[in-house]
Amino acid sequence: MKNNKHKILALKYRPKNFEELIGQDIIVQTIINSIKLDKLPNAYLLTGIRGTGKTTLARLIAKALNCNKDFLKEENCNCSHCEEITNSKHLDVLEIDAASNTGIDHVRSLIESSQYNPTSAKYKIIILDEVHMLSKQAFNGLLKTLEEPPLHLKFIFATTEVKKIPVTIVSRCQRFDLHRVSIEILFDNLKKISKIENGKISDEALKLIAKAAEGSVRDSLSLLDRTLVDQHIMEKEIDEPFVRKMLGIANRSKILELIHYIFQGDQKKSITQLREMINEGIEPANLLNDFLEITYFILQKKNLGNFDSNLSISDSEIDMINLISKDVDTSTLIIFWQFVLKGLDELSIVSNPILSLEMMVIRLIHLKDMPSYEGILDLINKSSLKNDNDNVITEKYTKLDINEKNEINKISKDQIKNSLQTKPELELTNPKKLTEDKNQEHISSFEDLIKLSSIKKEVELKYDLEKNVNLIKFSEGKIDIGFNENLGKNFVRNLSEKLLTWTGKRWVITLTKATGQKTFLERQSIMAEQLLVKEKKGEVYKKFKNIFPDGELIGISKKEKIMKDFSDLITQAKKMQEKMKETQESLKKIEVEGVSGGNSVKIIMNGDGELKKIFLDDILMNESKEIVEDLIVAAHNDAKSKLKKKTSEEILKITGGVDLPPNFKFPFQ
Ligand SMILES: [Zn+2]
Repeated sequence: MKNNKHKILALKYRPKNFEELIGQDIIVQTIINSIKLDKLPNAYLLTGIRGTGKTTLARLIAKALNCNKDFLKEENCNCSHCEEITNSKHLDVLEIDAASNTGIDHVRSLIESSQYNPTSAKYKIIILDEVHMLSKQAFNGLLKTLEEPPLHLKFIFATTEVKKIPVTIVSRCQRFDLHRVSIEILFDNLKKISKIENGKISDEALKLIAKAAEGSVRDSLSLLDRTLVDQHIMEKEIDEPFVRKMLGIANRSKILELIHYIFQGDQKKSITQLREMINEGIEPANLLNDFLEITYFILQKKNLGNFDSNLSISDSEIDMINLISKDVDTSTLIIFWQFVLKGLDELSIVSNPILSLEMMVIRLIHLKDMPSYEGILDLINKSSLKNDNDNVITEKYTKLDINEKNEINKISKDQIKNSLQTKPELELTNPKKLTEDKNQEHISSFEDLIKLSSIKKEVELKYDLEKNVNLIKFSEGKIDIGFNENLGKNFVRNLSEKLLTWTGKRWVITLTKATGQKTFLERQSIMAEQLLVKEKKGEVYKKFKNIFPDGELIGISKKEKIMKDFSDLITQAKKMQEKMKETQESLKKIEVEGVSGGNSVKIIMNGDGELKKIFLDDILMNESKEIVEDLIVAAHNDAKSKLKKKTSEEILKITGGVDLPPNFKFPFQ
């Protein structure tokens, strides 16, 4: 108890050089290299969760840039610049908390003052902590200076929320993402400092602190602070149970036991264990987080086999996890996970978290009685199979129905999946219900909706939809519309009721004053107008005018059926054309043999009509040149006609007996 004037550890052990900054080796190396090479960015952007060393690193950079000596070589530089920076008294190194200086005015005066040369050091350095808190205007004010800063000016930004910084700013900085510091590194650091501070704290206790700090050096040191104070008061070694109690963390072997009881469905033992832990002062939220972590470990064990050895988990705990993992299936674990997550949510709502904790444990125990996810899927398959059989008897069971049914089946599976994720206790007992709504209408466009209202004889609805409503956005289940003053009072209620009846779903209807598309009728008439104008320029109309000079085209009725047939025809023709192309390609590869003169001349021709080979019999040696030439021409013609025949046969195979298009050309003609 000699040191009465206690200094906070996080300050006392603040790194004095780059080497002492733990857990950020690669970043530190990069920064050192750029300093050595004198390739300094205009602005550094340091991001990371709290306590990873952002401000510390910012100060180290400031020192390295302004040091009178060789900062990179000094262990604890005591030059005037470094000293002043350590004590936040350096005139040229400004540390500003952006959270309390968010406005443009502040940034403006900052920029103005930064235009002057530094008073004593090489660089004027502005460290802006929590820079994401700056206003949009302030960021804009900063932008220009950031782009072309005076040579003597450097910025160092630190932030926990880099996503809130405009991209224009981020892209002008050299960015360094500081990582959470690993449990191992935190532990080593804690152990070292604890030793210097004459702490008597067991390794297990230090590991627990390292873990509780969640990657933050500062948090780990402030926890160590508390532990050391306790140790000095109690004057005995601090062990793991003490730290657990101090942090409100339950003993993990006890949590494992509790989870084991839960999976065994033993309500009495589970509750007894839970109450015991609560009496020891465990925090409900901590317990649930431990539940999650252990569930994760069990899942990992089940699905990936063994996990990497890591400090946060002991051998005896691994044994216990192995034991539990044998008894539960993956689906139960996933539901368990969902329940615990939900439990965490509820904790913040209820006034008595301990009660809520007990309730949750009871719910978890009854998870065992619920059918598994796979079981439910089985059930659905069986029940829809049964339905299938029913349908076969009615004879109306066409192929299309099967497809629809599969679709519905798929949807119901998805629905089950969703409800499992949110409310596993609901709707699982009656999976058949989900396959029932196959007679519902599908409305996939606004035009569909109008057509349907017409079919269903909803005259008023149809009238409003056509005349008084303009569509802004339509997707199945959701309609955004604008409207005019003539819209019926009951329109929305009416529409939403009808949609529910027709589709079996509740639709979201949003009415806005915003003007969307024109109304259905307006659009129809515009389209008709356009068509009319177009047709009047066409050949048909000209001919018509020649015959009936006094006639006038006043409208065009669209023959949808004809249009559809025509487009089918076009599609068919296109397909045929493609096939023809294929055939022509393959025809090039075929070969035919042409002969003449009683086989004394033989020629081979390919699909392109090219002569490949000519064979002349020895007998022809005695014949005149003219006769041989004639025989070759004859053989050539023979080959040509054979090729033509063969090609036609090939093409007939493809077109199925249909005649060739009149302008179809053989490749060799
Ligand atoms: Zn120095």
